[in-house]
Amino acid sequence: MNGNGLRTDDWLKKRLERLIELHYSDVNRGYPIRIRFGSRARFRFGSIYSVNEECHILINKLFAYPEVPEYVVDSTLVHELAHYVHGYGSGLRKMHAQPHRGGVVDEEMRKRGCDHYEIDAAEWRRLHWRNLYDLHAKDIIDKKSERENRDIAIWERYLKTPGFHTEEELRSRWGYLKQVFDQTENDTKIEWLHGSLHQNGLSYRYGKEGVVRMHGVLANKSVPDYVLDYEMIYWLAEMSCDGWREIEETIKRAGLWSTAEKAIAWRTHRWKGFLRKNHPLRKRAAIQQ
Ligand SMILES: [Zn+2]
Repeated sequence: MNGNGLRTDDWLKKRLERLIELHYSDVNRGYPIRIRFGSRARFRFGSIYSVNEECHILINKLFAYPEVPEYVVDSTLVHELAHYVHGYGSGLRKMHAQPHRGGVVDEEMRKRGCDHYEIDAAEWRRLHWRNLYDLHAKDIIDKKSERENRDIAIWERYLKTPGFHTEEELRSRWGYLKQVFDQTENDTKIEWLHGSLHQNGLSYRYGKEGVVRMHGVLANKSVPDYVLDYEMIYWLAEMSCDGWREIEETIKRAGLWSTAEKAIAWRTHRWKGFLRKNHPLRKRAAIQQ
């Protein structure tokens, strides 16, 4: 225990040594093991890897709380040791191409008489893990939802910028283009996408939700109308035929090919830089750093 009443890396080390003595004493030693508490996580309890001929085992920091029974920690330790034996992180000969496939870890446990740890641990985790996580990782959860809420607010503000293309404008254009493509029965909706920093597409179709989302950055007033039109045209053409060649034909038949050409040129030459420069969340990220 340290000053916070939490278990220490040293405690972990002793625990591990004891389990090696009990269940793994026959194992040829590969790389020397360094074990310590890593970060807190909801779903990952331990991991094993090697660096410079040293084996590193990281254990979920939440296991440092004394309300987690020792057998729960033990079950993760014997699990990682099975990986070690199988040649993961240890420098020993690899015995299986995949660490878990075929139940090889469970089999190793049974063979060594340490399968009871996991049975008890799984039951304890089923009853208590969620509460423990909510209690001791509340700041992680809060931070995440705080960030999500802040991003929503930033996007809403951005999309309300005076002079920008509005969602209403999108919807009426969408309705008009549906008629052009003879898709008046199609009830797919259209709206702005609160794009994350990883979404580089101009628009996305979410088939299951029945909605096409246009990247919010396209609401910027300096984005030409033909760019917006083309995104919608593309999806409507795609929904009315299959294969790119046919899409092209469909757009040509609708007399919209020159719009498509201008828009394709814009997205080829302008979009990437435009997105980087105007993404409202990127500005937020820059301020934070
Ligand atoms: Zn594993």
